Amino acid sequence: MELLEIKDLNHMFGGLKAISSLNINVKSKMIYGVIGANGAGKTTLFNLITGIYHPTTGQILLDGISLVGKQSYEISRLGVARTFQNLRLFNDLTVVENIHVGQIYRRGLGKQKTKNLSAKINSLLNLFGLDARAEDKAGNLPYGMQRKLEIARALATEPKLLLLDEPAAGMNPHEVQGLVGLIKEVKRQYSDITIILIEHQMKLVEGLCDYATVMNFGQVIANGTVQEIQNNPVVIKAYLGEA
Ligand code: ATP
Repeated sequence: MELLEIKDLNHMFGGLKAISSLNINVKSKMIYGVIGANGAGKTTLFNLITGIYHPTTGQILLDGISLVGKQSYEISRLGVARTFQNLRLFNDLTVVENIHVGQIYRRGLGKQKTKNLSAKINSLLNLFGLDARAEDKAGNLPYGMQRKLEIARALATEPKLLLLDEPAAGMNPHEVQGLVGLIKEVKRQYSDITIILIEHQMKLVEGLCDYATVMNFGQVIANGTVQEIQNNPVVIKAYLGEA
């Protein structure tokens, strides 16, 4: 069954059509890749799903509920979490505090049920290999760990849908390999979660995604399994050929 349905989505920035007649269906529990060159509209798509921008026209449905017109905090409470291409951690808060903010954001201030929250923080610290740095300020962590902490904070909101915006950006090949293993482990431990991953490089998508969409100039130019996409002449011409 479809968790996310995007129907005939359009978004203009002034005279620029950043998203054009976009249709995407993401089935529940998938790891779904969105790939495309710089400026293809990938981040704008996440910004539209998460209510940072409101689409010019079109539909975005999560479990059949329209997200269009809702505020980001409402969309978060419906079960959508994201990370950013450029990290947005609270650098002066500790690792634990950053994760706790995720928990608070989901529940709303004053409505927290504190029971089990610290157990969940501990399991996230453990999953992301951040135990030893739990009390360090986020801004003092090495870059690769900061990227992991962003994912941990997003998971702390207990999302149905996790949107990862270029999670491997700035990582070295060794760190990228570690990230592939980590996302697989997240999927194993959070078996109901659905992940959409924006990625620039095909290699990460190959290792993780069940299905992918290729975007170019705001439009979908191909959908399919990673293998189908890699063999698609339109994709090769528009994107892979120059990669
Ligand atoms: P990248 O890999 O570089 O992040 P992307 O596929 O995520 O690329 P977007 O950031 O979504 O691409 O940008 C799509 C287009 O919309 C680009 O031409 C970009 O310059 C433009 N754009 C994005 N945000 C805005 C904005 N706030 N105002 C005006 N134009 C914007």
